[in-house]
Order: sequence, then C-alpha cells, then structure tokens
Amino acid sequence: MTTNTADTSGPNANPTPAATLEFRHVQKVYPGSGQPAIQDLSLEICAGEICVLVGPSGCGKTTAMRMVNRMIDLSDGDILLDGRSVRDRAPAELRREIGYAIQQIGLFPHQTIAENITTVPKLLGWSKDRQRARVTELLELIGLDAEMASRYPAQLSGGQRQRVGVARALAADPPLMLMDEPFGAVDPIARARLQNEFLRLQAQLRKTIVFVTHDIDEAIKMGDKIAVLKTGGVLAQYATPAELLMYPADKFVEDFVGADRALKRLALQRVRDIDLWKAALVRVGEPVAQARAKLADADLPIAMLVDAENRPQGWLSDRAFTGERVTAEVRSPAEPVADLDDVLRDALSDLLSTETRYGAVLDARGAMAGVLSLEVIQHFLHAAPAEARSGAELVSE
Ligand code: ADP
Ligand code: MG
Repeated sequence: MTTNTADTSGPNANPTPAATLEFRHVQKVYPGSGQPAIQDLSLEICAGEICVLVGPSGCGKTTAMRMVNRMIDLSDGDILLDGRSVRDRAPAELRREIGYAIQQIGLFPHQTIAENITTVPKLLGWSKDRQRARVTELLELIGLDAEMASRYPAQLSGGQRQRVGVARALAADPPLMLMDEPFGAVDPIARARLQNEFLRLQAQLRKTIVFVTHDIDEAIKMGDKIAVLKTGGVLAQYATPAELLMYPADKFVEDFVGADRALKRLALQRVRDIDLWKAALVRVGEPVAQARAKLADADLPIAMLVDAENRPQGWLSDRAFTGERVTAEVRSPAEPVADLDDVLRDALSDLLSTETRYGAVLDARGAMAGVLSLEVIQHFLHAAPAEARSGAELVSE
C-alpha cells in the first residue's frame, strides 16, 4: 500500500463541510418555448440533507437540478450555494465543485474504473499518489474489490457501474451532490440494494444532496425533505416524507403519493417510535391476586407469561388464574414477536397473522418492552407526526 506516502492532507483528512443550497424564485423558460419549465421555485436545503425532487415526467426536475451547476442557465431568480449566487461563479469551477451522478452514468468506456473515478481530482491537479489513495478509499466505501480499479466499465454489472458513478461524483469530496435518477437503470432488487447502500454511505458522509426521481417510493425512502413538482414546474409541496404522507397539500400530491399512504407512513417508522401498550407480565407460581392486580393495571385484557428475565413464554389463558398461584396454562404462543428496531409496516404484517392480534415487542436482550396492537397502530396513524405538529400552516384532514 502506498497510502502512507500519499499527501497527509489526504482525501478525507479534512472533509469538505456540506453546503447549504437555496432556490430563490427561480424561473426557467427555454428559448422558443412559451411555457416556463420552472415557475417561481423557492426552497431551502439544509447542509447534510437529502432533498428529493419528485414529480411526473417533464415536470422540470432535471431542469431545476441542472441550474444548480449551471449546465442550464437561470431565466430569473437565483440559486445560492453556501449563500453565494451561482450566477457569480464560473460554470467550469462550479462543475468541479459539485458532484454529479446521472442515470446513464456516463462512465467513459475507454478509461479504467480508476481513471473514471479520478476525473475531477485530475482536473484539480491532485498528485498521482493522492489520486490512487482516493480510488482505494472510494472502492472500499462503495464495496467494490480493489482489483476493479484496472477494469473497464463494460466488465462490470449495471449495479457496479452505478456505484462507480456515485464514487466518481464523490471523488473530490464535494460539498454538494446532484443525483439525477441515479438508480433508474437497474432492476428493482439491485435498486433497493443501491438505495440502502447509499443511505448507509450518507449516514457517514452527511453530504448535501439533491436527488431527482419520478418514483414516490424512492423519494419517501431517500429524502429528508421532498419537493413535489407538478407539470409546468410548479412546486406543489415541500415537506418531510411523514408530513407529505400525512398532510398532502392538494389533490395532486394526494394522488401522487398514492392511496396506500398510510402504509407508506408505517414503512417510515420503527416500532420504538410509537407508544406501546403495557402488558401484565406474570410468572408461574406468582399469587393470582397479584397477577390480577397487574392485569387491572395493563392496557390489554390478557397476561403474558414471562421467565425470570422477562422473556415472553406465551399468552396465559383464564385457567392459569383459577388456583391460588399462577399456572403455566398458555392459550397461545408469544409468537410472532417484534423488535424495537423493526419497521412498523413489517410488524403490522406479522400482527395480522396472529390469533390474539397482540404482538410482543422485545428489547435488545429479548425481554418484553411492550405490546403492539392494531389499536396502537391506528392511534399512531391518526396522531400528527412530531414535525408536523409544530407547523402551524399545515391543514389538517
Ligand atoms: P423532468 O426531468 O422532470 O422529466 P425536464 O426538466 O427534463 O423534466 O423537462 C421539463 C420541461 O422542459 C419539459 O416540458 C421538457 O420538454 C422541456 N425541456 C427540457 N429540456 C429542454 C430544452 N433543452 N429545450 C427546450 N425544452 C426543454
Ligand atoms: Mg429528468
């Protein structure tokens, strides 16, 4: 490894802080077109967040994105990168500073993967050692073998090429990344994997990202904030995924997010995010009077038999309470159980298959943390998300 001889100011020695981005009354009218492609677009994107631009084909997503690095010039309004107008910047300089990844990746076919990745570092005049170290680091980051560096794009799978496209966009550690349908060209399974990998990467990198997709599910999964555009480049709503699903601003957004928006909200939440029911936790041999007192205090009418570590053994039947001491008369197994970290939508799906319609929720040690019920989930769906509650301008359904 030559990594140690590379610049000590090496690629990640001093990561570039993420940028803020602001669209201010941006308008775009293509020459010869009577209709604006973007109308009066204003939005603020916080440093380190993924902002997804979503909407039907032709609504202006790509146009909005390309004005940021001035591949397309603004007709009116302004875009501020870290508070500074992109109008005052040389387009070539902006494009070196902003990472850019697109659907048809556009890897150079006659260059190796390493050469593709170092496109911008080369332009920036990085030393050969520093470039090599960056390639090694990025291949590791995106989960490709180091030996891939000397391959050509045609020798890679679609998913691998897509990852290289992301690595190339990340190469010079840009403060902002633009990603235009970056996972659009791969099959659904590879796509889900790329999305998950990218979210893991982003949890580490905390880049500011503008991400374009026409797929609402991808938007909900990837976005910290989502800007829904409608035909004619009109911003229909700019909100968090939960707000969008809970309070679609108009009929267009409501239709666009889909009839299953309640289920989509459940896919955004973990079991630990909701107020679980408290169950009576009862042990064999415990006085029945004491167990009955616990039942009276619980949120559900049946008790869970637990072992010494509060691990669930099964739901007790009434017969367990007939003597003086609780007996091991189990009416149904504790299964299925959910973990606090499970996605609520999956937990609901399991819950629907149980006889009792109650799901034991376990903590990391396998002990009872609470109980999930259909009522708990219903209550959650009708309560406002925390961020939405403070938004006074939001209209309730
Ligand atoms: P999206 O990315 O959401 O599919 P685009 O930003 O590509 O939408 O396009 C928005 C609108 O602008 C469309 O009506 C499209 O036909 C038009 N448009 C895009 N590029 C050009 C261009 N270079 N010249 C004229 N019209 C264009
Ligand atoms: Mg587009």
